[in-house]
Amino acid sequence: MLDHNTVARFEALDTPFYYYDLELLQKTLASCKVASDKYGFHVHYAFKANFNERVLKAIQQIGFGADCVSGNEVKKAIEIGFDPGKVVFAGVGKSDREIIEGLENDIYCFNVESVQELGIINDLAAKRGKTARVAIRINPNVDAHTHHYITTGLEENKFGVNQWELKTCVEELRKSSNLQLIGIHFHIGSQITNLDIFKSLCVKANELSQWFEEHGFQLQILNVGGGFGVDYYNPDESPVNDFESYFEIFNKFLERKPNQEVHFELGRALVAQCGNLISRILYVKNGLKKNFLILDAGMTELMRPALYQAYHKIQNLSADKNAETVKYDVVGPICESTDWLGKEVELPLSKRGDLVVLRTAGAYGQVMASGYNLRDIVRSEYSS
Ligand SMILES: *Cc1c(COP(=O)(O)O)cnc(C)c1O
Repeated sequence: MLDHNTVARFEALDTPFYYYDLELLQKTLASCKVASDKYGFHVHYAFKANFNERVLKAIQQIGFGADCVSGNEVKKAIEIGFDPGKVVFAGVGKSDREIIEGLENDIYCFNVESVQELGIINDLAAKRGKTARVAIRINPNVDAHTHHYITTGLEENKFGVNQWELKTCVEELRKSSNLQLIGIHFHIGSQITNLDIFKSLCVKANELSQWFEEHGFQLQILNVGGGFGVDYYNPDESPVNDFESYFEIFNKFLERKPNQEVHFELGRALVAQCGNLISRILYVKNGLKKNFLILDAGMTELMRPALYQAYHKIQNLSADKNAETVKYDVVGPICESTDWLGKEVELPLSKRGDLVVLRTAGAYGQVMASGYNLRDIVRSEYSS
C-alpha cells in the first residue's frame, strides 16, 4: 500500500526505483493457487513478465512452474529452485545452444513453434541419447481483441504452427524417434480482459485436440497459455484478478480426456499490480498548448507507453489532494519523442521535487529497462 508511511519512506530515497508490494504479490499468488487447485489446473509463471529474484522466489515457493522464452530464463528458473520437471520452454527462435541446455536440464517440455524446429530438437536430442518432450504451439487464429502489437494468435503473427501445417508436423513427429509429443499449446495474446475470448480459445482447442486424437496421438496436456489482463485504470478497486471466473471458463468449456492435464502460463495477472515505478518531477514546463511534467524516469525505466501506447495510472504522491487540477503530459528525460509516460493526465497542481507513481508496473516494466543514453539500470525497493 502506498500509505502515508510508505510515501514518507520514499521521500528519503533516490529516485527512480521500482517498488514491490510483496504482501499484495502474496495475496495474488494465493488467490490464483486456490482458484486453480479447485480444478486441478497447473500454473506456470511466465518469467518474461518480471524476473526480480524476490518475486521469483515467492512464485517458486507457492509451487507454480516456470514458462521460459530463453535459455537464460531456463537457467534462472533452475537457479531459483524451480523443479526442472515444471519448466516449459517456448520461443519462436530457440538457438541450438538454448535447446541443448534445455535437454541437459531435462526440462518438462519444449513448446515448439515450427516444423523445422521439431527436426532440430530431434537431432540434438538424438546426439545426446535423449528423448525430448514436446508440445506443438498452434496458432488457433483466435483474435484476442487486444492492442495489435500484443496479439499473437492470428495467422499473420510469427508465433506457432498454423493449422494447415499440422499434417506436416504429424509426419515429422512420426519419423522423429527422439521426440515425444505430450500436448498442444496456445498463447493468443496478452492483456485480454474479455473472458469470452478464452471461451473461443477453448472451442478451438477442443477441435484441435480431437484432430490429434484422430491422428493417433494421445495428448497428456492441453496448455492454454496466459494472457489474462489486469485493470490498469482502477488498480485500487481490483488489486487482485478474479482468478475464479477465469479458471471457471476453462473448466466449463475445455473438454478434457480422463487424466489429461490443463496447463496455464500466467505472467501479467500475477505480477502487474504489485509493482510501481516511483519517480520525481525534475521540471514543470508550461507551454501554450500543453503543460509538461518532466520526470527522472522515462522509457528507459518503463517502456510500455513508448512501445505500445500503454496506459499506466499516474498519481502525484506529494501534492495536496485538494489542490486545483491541471492536465499534464508526463514525459521522461530521454532524447526520443516517444519518451512519454502519460498524456493529458489530470493531476493536482504539481511542482519540482514532487514524488510521482506509475501504477500497475510490475509486469513488462522493470524487465524492459535499458541503459539507453547510458542511464543507470533502475533498481528495486520492497515493502518488507
Ligand atoms: C508472454 C507469454 C505468456 C504470458 O503472457 P501474459 O499476458 O503475461 O499472461 C505466456 N505464454 C507465452 C508463450 C508467452 O510468450
